[in-house]
Amino acid sequence: MIPYGKQNISQDDIDAVVKCLKSDFITTGPKIPEFENALCEFSNTDYAVAVSSGTAALHCAMVALGITKGDEVIVSTLTFAASANCIVYQNATPIFADSIENSLLIDPVDVERKITSKTKAIIAVDYAGQPCDYDALRTICDKYNLFLVSDACHSIGGSYNNKKTGSLADITCFSFHPVKHITTGEGGAALTNNEDLASKMRIFRNHGITTDYRQRELNGAHYYEMTQLGFNYRITDFQCALGISQLKKLNLWIEKRNQIAEIYDSAFLELKKITPLYNNENVLNAYHLYVVKLDESLNRDAIFLKMRNAGIGVNVHYIPVHLHPYYKNTFATTEGQCPVAEEAYQHIISLPMFPSLSYDEILYVIDSLSKFSNI
Ligand SMILES: *Cc1c(COP(=O)(O)O)cnc(C)c1O
Repeated sequence: MIPYGKQNISQDDIDAVVKCLKSDFITTGPKIPEFENALCEFSNTDYAVAVSSGTAALHCAMVALGITKGDEVIVSTLTFAASANCIVYQNATPIFADSIENSLLIDPVDVERKITSKTKAIIAVDYAGQPCDYDALRTICDKYNLFLVSDACHSIGGSYNNKKTGSLADITCFSFHPVKHITTGEGGAALTNNEDLASKMRIFRNHGITTDYRQRELNGAHYYEMTQLGFNYRITDFQCALGISQLKKLNLWIEKRNQIAEIYDSAFLELKKITPLYNNENVLNAYHLYVVKLDESLNRDAIFLKMRNAGIGVNVHYIPVHLHPYYKNTFATTEGQCPVAEEAYQHIISLPMFPSLSYDEILYVIDSLSKFSNI
């Protein structure tokens, strides 16, 4: 089976982890700030807080921005559930925004339409790896005094107006799950240029305690204070050792992903019933996913099954979050609230996309998809 995404672990990664395991610290040691600094340098952002998952990073963002009961946060609906769940963790209300038809990115016009006096923030998801329209979103946030959060779990290494993801919003969240661009097993990070927000997220990831174990060791002190309720969202040193090693290869992998996308794009240019997502001119797409829309005359689910039976691990990203039973039952969300995303969901399919995908595998995917689409 050719999967839709896959991690890439080589000997240098393994060596880095083993070296860390043999060192004095396997958690909350020197590899944490080293990884955070590498992330800052990579994305040209001032502060990074490494945590145990992308979901934890999103939760940290909500806490740092003071999102609480009674608040509304507008979030893309065409995303993984975690993008919205972080709002609910804070007992706030998620309001789902529709997508732009050709790119499937969050639609700033729909966002503005859904703002109320309770709206506190927007979570924009860089769907499939393409950064959203951050200029338009920033204009809206300035106009209504809202915070902007970027769920960049698909777009690390991508850029918008030549600015890397990481500092395009007030807080940007990355995931290092194995299916994403770089991995730490499980892991994530929240990045910001605001020192106060970074400090709040550091405290929240460590039970709400104001110093961590290593700081106290360095100071020779035992005293610590818990100033608020936090979680244990820490990441380990050996995970960060892996992350540091992986990050060195990210630019090369983004290039590879773009080369694969070009091969797909040029093949589908000929096939009118298969349409790749539209890329805006001012972006570098990080291509976490390669998504195409199938023509309405085609049966997506039948093609999905045929592709799977042919050994191609296609997928569908995503069921719009507002259509999940939990959201319908808890927030009374309904069909029709985000018609563009709901319609797109019926026709999209994600094709294999990862740096080690071979040319022959790409051609096999293209041939199979055109064969099963009868074109
Ligand atoms: C993967 C992902 C997350 C969650 O990341 P985890 O590290 O799995 O917790 C959140 N949002 C989006 C868009 C993702 O793709």
